[in-house]
Amino acid sequence: MVEDFDRNHLWHPYTSTSNPLPVYKADHAEGCEIVLEDGRRLIDGMSSWWCAIHGYNHPVLNEAAVAQIRRMSHVMFGGLTHEPAVSLGKLLLRIAPPSMSKIFYADSGSVAVEVAMKMAVQYNFATGHPRKTDFVTIRRGYHGDTWNAMSVCDPVTGMHSLFGSALPVRRFVPSPSSRFDGEWNDEDIRPLEDMVRQHHDTLAALILEPVVQGAGGMWFYHPEYLRKAVALCREYGILVIFDEIATGFGRTGRLFAWEHAGVEPDIMCIGKALTGGYMTFSAVLASDKVADGISCNPPYAFMHGPTFMGNPLACAVAKASTELLLASGWKEKVRAIEAQLREELQPAVSLPAVSDVRVLGSIGVIEVKKPVDMGYMQRRFVEEGVWVRPFGRLVYVMPPYIISPEQLGRLTHALVKITGEL
Ligand SMILES: *Cc1c(COP(=O)(O)O)cnc(C)c1O
Repeated sequence: MVEDFDRNHLWHPYTSTSNPLPVYKADHAEGCEIVLEDGRRLIDGMSSWWCAIHGYNHPVLNEAAVAQIRRMSHVMFGGLTHEPAVSLGKLLLRIAPPSMSKIFYADSGSVAVEVAMKMAVQYNFATGHPRKTDFVTIRRGYHGDTWNAMSVCDPVTGMHSLFGSALPVRRFVPSPSSRFDGEWNDEDIRPLEDMVRQHHDTLAALILEPVVQGAGGMWFYHPEYLRKAVALCREYGILVIFDEIATGFGRTGRLFAWEHAGVEPDIMCIGKALTGGYMTFSAVLASDKVADGISCNPPYAFMHGPTFMGNPLACAVAKASTELLLASGWKEKVRAIEAQLREELQPAVSLPAVSDVRVLGSIGVIEVKKPVDMGYMQRRFVEEGVWVRPFGRLVYVMPPYIISPEQLGRLTHALVKITGEL
């Protein structure tokens, strides 16, 4: 069933071309199911990496895309604007942290992170701090695969050693050990305190994923860390960038994860579920302080402008997806998924191969003691009729919010059964 052409010529994420893992051929997808070419229907546990919050082939999103294509798929954003960009912007500012007031549309999550980091450096340059060009972050993070985004990913799982001096070297502090649902341990903030005291004169910004660290380790940490970290950064003149590319649009039980802590960033990146998984698109939101700092000083402009900036098709679908989300009763849905995940993943705690089980919002994680054989696990999941792609020691799901209790039950059953075989 593996296509020869695919095997011989197509690179897949993080794979070898000479010895690739098997791939499954998707024919179409609808609702919460991915249908393979051979007719097998898989219940989707991944939302195609956090994106497909409304499931697949949604009539409302389809209609938004088709209607926009009939007007124009794209026009350049230099010197032109359009209704989809304006109405999406209004909608985003309504749901963003109150201090966010300027929006930069970008192409993907990684590009949004690049843009945010450039904003932080340019802000500091423009406001008389040309030495503040470095970044501090917490270990176990994931921010994308382009160079600067990669430089603030976890240095071990991000394999920084492979890239030598091509990769900028950043400042790292340990990821907070206090669990989201546990006691706050004040020791967690000490490394960041020491770091900013020592290096604040060269630090442009702190960048992190609020509360949920995604692809770097699926870790949920205590919101008090954010409150303390933001206070420290304000005290020492360091900007704060929240990367909400994975956590945004309801995934953690709040519309955005910063709400768990109630402290706002200076710059925020969103992406992934922004278009409901229809196409790549992202946005960088910034406060007036950041935007004015850049814009009111030489060179009086922010130096970035991608070809497909503000793509009308992506804006139209993003607007439709976000409106659909807000009208969908997402909070109750995510809460119900959370309750079912807690109950049905709980039995995994006593499995011999399992070291931890954690659930937040519509994210369920079973951490196992030894790295799993991804090819084997994926085959077993497909045999069980579900789509789950574990990595390292993490077997996890973040399903579309439209998943039915019955479908979610089949997903959790497969998760517990297959980790029970390890
Ligand atoms: C996926 C992700 C990115 C990168 O987004 P791409 O669209 O893959 O470039 C950045 N930050 C976080 C937190 C992510 O989960």
